[in-house]
Amino acid sequence: MRSDPRQYCPRCRRDLISKELGGRSRLACAAAQCGFVFWDNPVPVVAAIVELEGRIVLVRNAWWPEGKFGLLAGFLEPDETAEQGVLREVVEELSLQGTIQEFVGTYPNPGNNQILLVYHVLIEGEPELSAELAEIRRLRPEELQPWPFGTGVALRDWLAEHGYTPAPG
Ligand SMILES: [Zn+2]
Repeated sequence: MRSDPRQYCPRCRRDLISKELGGRSRLACAAAQCGFVFWDNPVPVVAAIVELEGRIVLVRNAWWPEGKFGLLAGFLEPDETAEQGVLREVVEELSLQGTIQEFVGTYPNPGNNQILLVYHVLIEGEPELSAELAEIRRLRPEELQPWPFGTGVALRDWLAEHGYTPAPG
């Protein structure tokens, strides 16, 4: 059985204990002279509200269950800006060069310990899906029903900014 990697200090292998640091409870090394703190800082993830001919492209990743769709998203490479990263993801997943229309905002995603950097990206042409995508949907903005977490919150904000008020749920 694999043990929880947060149970032991990665520096000195002593137990991690809960400590009050910077106004929050953190896991920290029990050995005072070690000083290791597991800060658990979020990982940045770029996501795109992809627009194609007036429709928004939602994607279903190959490992997602039938019926589950979301925004195209991915992790950053060490040497790229968020803008480069989101456009690279669009090329990799849809085989189309996009252009950034606007930066929608940053959205915490604590369940996955991520900070989402969300962009509105325009594409033209016929998408060719990578092996990582099972299928896409192209929905008119008024058909979208944003999910109440993660990228769905960004999508809701974007819709509201563009004059659409999606029904709750
Ligand atoms: Zn330690």
